[in-house]
Formats: sequence, C-alpha cells, structure tokens
Amino acid sequence: MSKLAVVAIGGNSLILDPKKVTVEDQYIAAAETSKHIADMIEAGWDVAIGHGNGPQVGFILRRSEIAAKYEGMHEVPLEVCGADSQGAIGYAIQQTLQNELISRGIKKPVATVVTQVKVDKNDKAFQNPTKPIGGFMDEAEAKKRQHDLGWNVVEDAGRGWRRVVASPIPQEVVEIESVRTLLKNGTCVITVGGGGIPVIDNGKGGCLGIAAVIDKDFASSLLASLINADLFIISTAVEKVAINYGKPDEKWLDHMTVDEAKAYLAEGIHFAKGSMAPKIQAIINYFENGGKEALITNPENIGRALRGETGTRITK
Ligand code: ADP
Ligand code: MG
Repeated sequence: MSKLAVVAIGGNSLILDPKKVTVEDQYIAAAETSKHIADMIEAGWDVAIGHGNGPQVGFILRRSEIAAKYEGMHEVPLEVCGADSQGAIGYAIQQTLQNELISRGIKKPVATVVTQVKVDKNDKAFQNPTKPIGGFMDEAEAKKRQHDLGWNVVEDAGRGWRRVVASPIPQEVVEIESVRTLLKNGTCVITVGGGGIPVIDNGKGGCLGIAAVIDKDFASSLLASLINADLFIISTAVEKVAINYGKPDEKWLDHMTVDEAKAYLAEGIHFAKGSMAPKIQAIINYFENGGKEALITNPENIGRALRGETGTRITK
C-alpha cells in the first residue's frame, strides 16, 4: 500500500523572481515544482497538493480595480478572486505535473478541486481584521467604501489607505469527501488552494462566501489531518528551518521533535511571524490531530529530504 503525503507549496514556488511574475513565468515555475512532485509519485507516494495564492490574488484584484476605475467594470469580490486563483494555479500545476508524469510513462490522473473552507463567523479574527488586501486608496475613497460596502480600512504607515480583512482559522474542508474519493481512486489532487475559499455556515447547513483570507499552511495542515496523511511537507523558499534565524548564532536544524517545535515557537524569537511561525504552528496542529511526520524544505530538495539528506524533519 502506498503512503499518502500532503505537499503545501509556497507562493515562492510559483514566483521565483520578483521581476518574473507573468503567467508564463509562473507556469515555468510550476513546471519546476511539478518535477519534484513527480519524483515523489515515482517513488510510490500518493500526493495531495495545497498551495499559496497571495501574489496571484493581488494581481486579480488589481486588474479588477483598474478595470472598475477606468471602464466602470464590476469588481470581483475577494472570495471570487480566491476561486479564480485556485482555478488558474490549479491548472498550471495539474497540466505541468500531468505532462511530467506522461513524459516518464507514469499513468496517474491529476485534478484540481475548487475548495471551500469553512470558518467560524464568530472567529475572533473578524473583530480585528489585519490582512491588507488590494491597492492603496486615498482617505475619501477609503471612507466611502467603508460606508457603502462595510469594508474595514486602515491607514498604512503614511503610504495611503488599504482594505484589511480577517484571517480566521480553517475549521472544515467542505469538499473533503470528493477529495478522499479522488485520492482513493489514485488521482493526485490539488486542493485548498490559497487556504481555500473562505465560507461561513449560511444558517441552513450550506455555505456563504465571505471576504477573508485563510492561511494556506493552516488549511494544508487541516487537509493532512482529514485525509490521515503519513507525511506533511511544507515546500517553501528555505532548505531548512533555523533557530535564532537571522542572528549571529543562527542554527539550521536537521530535526526537531514536536515538543521542541512548541518550545521554540513559544520563545517567540526563532520563527518570523507571518512566514515561518504559521508553518511551525500548522505542523504542531497536524501532530495534535494524529500526524506522523513532517518536513520543511525547498522544492528542489524534496527528493533529498525524503531520503533524509536535508530539510528539517519534525517527528513526535
Ligand atoms: P511561503 O510562500 O512558502 O509561505 P513565506 O515567505 O511565508 O513562504 O515563509 C518562508 C520564509 O520564512 C523563508 O523564506 C524565510 O525567509 C522565512 N523564515 C522566517 N523565520 C525562519 C526560520 N526560523 N528559519 C527559516 N526561515 C525562516
Ligand atoms: Mg507564507
């Protein structure tokens, strides 16, 4: 029986260079990451893929804002931007991965599931939204949108006004049964893209999309727990995790136990907020829900990390 892994791909895997951000460039980057995932599949792993979408949602929103400003086009709601990005990024990954598998003579279907992720409408994140979204506005425009559309807006360090949204904790992957069915039938599934499309209960047991963003590392961790993954890989821009990161006594780790990870996280000085800290928390959550093993490394080192040659391995 093959083992099941969740691979959470960072936004950096799709944007390798801040000067190379076109759709074609992202496609080339996706093809690169797909090679490393194909290696895993060739080595016998079943894989579910989660991915980030921060820069891509930014581009979609910006297009929407510019089209509205100059042509009076209707704007695209934030959760729909999330859905659009899941489709486009999913397409890039599913095609590049499928092509890579075909070139190796491996028969394995790859499919993207547009995924909604339920959050609690009483999540305390909604009381104090902090995630800046979309372009800068002047104060008058910001206040008008606050009044007309109920946006939360903040002044951003003298640079202008921006919309802020909440980043609530993911509670439930709505399409999880479909994801399980696809995995069971041998399909490599791309899901919870960008952390999933945030939805709340609509009061009738169904879903209602809301303007928020979900951390993709938290959503991928939830996915890993829900499908009982044997391994949770976070593929990001660094080969390993460091303690005392960026300080003179920085130390790159080959291994840590979950308890060590908790202790380092609690110290608050090792893992940067908003980048490495959520990844470590996501891994802790995965273990608290029965997780077995986790790895943090960069895409090009996934194969070596699986062989125990690099990366930071987290175990019980
Ligand atoms: P992703 O797009 O994969 O989520 P992030 O930029 O959010 O990537 O997080 C990865 C980044 O976290 C690394 O590129 C690194 O700069 C930063 N980082 C912060 N703290 C640490 C640490 N202790 N060890 C390694 N990298 C760290
Ligand atoms: Mg990140």
